[in-house]
Amino acid sequence: MKFDIAIVGGGPAGLSAAYSASKHGAKVILIEKDPSFGHNVRTSGVTWIKEIEKFEISREYYNPIKNFSFVSPTNQIMISGNFNSACVLDVRKTYQYLASRAASEGSTLLVKSQVIDVKKNLQGHSSILKVNSPSGPLDVEATLIIDASGFTSFVSRKLGYVESWKRYGIGAEYECYCDNVDNETLCLMVGQIYSEAGYAWVFPLSKNRLRIGVGIGKPNSSTDPLVKLNQIMKNRLPPLDTLGKIQPLELHYGMIPNEGLRTTSVFDGLIMVGDTVGQANPLVLEGIRYAIEFGRLAGRVGAESLQYNSSRDSLLPYEVANKNLLEKKIKSALKVQSRWLGLSDSEWHKEIEIIKELSIDEFLDFIKSDFTYSKMAKLAFNHPKMMVKQLFNLVLKK
Ligand SMILES: Cc1cc2nc3c(=O)[nH]c(=O)nc-3n(C[C@H](O)[C@H](O)[C@H](O)COP(=O)(O)OP(=O)(O)OC[C@H]3O[C@@H](n4cnc5c(N)ncnc54)[C@H](O)[C@@H]3O)c2cc1C
Repeated sequence: MKFDIAIVGGGPAGLSAAYSASKHGAKVILIEKDPSFGHNVRTSGVTWIKEIEKFEISREYYNPIKNFSFVSPTNQIMISGNFNSACVLDVRKTYQYLASRAASEGSTLLVKSQVIDVKKNLQGHSSILKVNSPSGPLDVEATLIIDASGFTSFVSRKLGYVESWKRYGIGAEYECYCDNVDNETLCLMVGQIYSEAGYAWVFPLSKNRLRIGVGIGKPNSSTDPLVKLNQIMKNRLPPLDTLGKIQPLELHYGMIPNEGLRTTSVFDGLIMVGDTVGQANPLVLEGIRYAIEFGRLAGRVGAESLQYNSSRDSLLPYEVANKNLLEKKIKSALKVQSRWLGLSDSEWHKEIEIIKELSIDEFLDFIKSDFTYSKMAKLAFNHPKMMVKQLFNLVLKK
């Protein structure tokens, strides 16, 4: 089978790349190993309404969030919003929608089809993917491969361009029925009883449904997040003690890279996108909107590169945007994250007090890692307390 562009992975990055490449005239195939798009949920699905609506993902795909609460073993705060800024996605429904949009633009989509090998065909300026599909083994030849295989970076590793991630987060999460859900408030829980290197969360989906999870940074801690999550559930640690009956309905498990962008995102005949190249904001493990944005960009730049056999040079507009838009932001987020990974319970108590000082707009900039120089300098100026200054100086420091 011959295509212009073959996309490996049907998460938000791959599906958005397929949509955009087809829209820009390329003949596209996308290959996903799971039996359906969004079948294995590997994310908690929190994102930002303003950003996600730019991708035509509307109210029917998410539960809106107004307030943000932080819980530590000895402290608890609530930052109340004036409007719905964040949301929790119905992940399966959203990914199915992204898949339908790619199909409607003309992409061929294969499910339960795993790419097991890749070879470069140097004479023909193409690559050949070996695929195990429900209709038997397939050879798929394409001028450009978009590697959207997520954390495993399957194609790029097979071709020897990158190694496995060394620093990463692992998350385990139950999606549950609950009696009493405040569906406008999301909660982050910090401190040793919740996670030795990371945080736990309660993210509401509706009045009676929410996601309760734990994320743990590797190699900082060797604990399995599922063990920690089961302890939190069993002991009904706050805020679970206020939820009434909690009945798990689904178990989600996932991994996310946590070391910044890879050195490069393009090679002759290959673009890396989403978690494959480390585009998520490491501060709060937030990658869906970046996967969609850069998936769309990869699809467009990829389609335009075909006339140049998708040489590395023709793919550079993608690389430049990737670096310019993400590199500084991710580096600053990593600095705050590295501070957070080392905090003791009493230090978390104080850190939460710092966060309490912020206005809702300042808090949103901070949690979204919108660390522009002017915003951060203004923050340091507006908050004369030493502790607040310390946090923002950390971000500003080169
Ligand atoms: C615990 C956890 C919580 C998170 N919470 C949030 C959150 O609240 N908000 C947010 O924005 N982000 C969150 N993220 C991050 C977000 O999920 C990722 O950044 C995003 O999913 C990246 O999208 P992607 O398309 O690059 O990769 P993925 O979503 O991982 O998709 C990759 C796809 O490739 C397929 N695949 C892999 N190898 C092959 C192969 N060989 N052949 C065929 N198919 C293959 C996989 O089955 C998968 O469907 C979280 C991540 C984790 C781990």
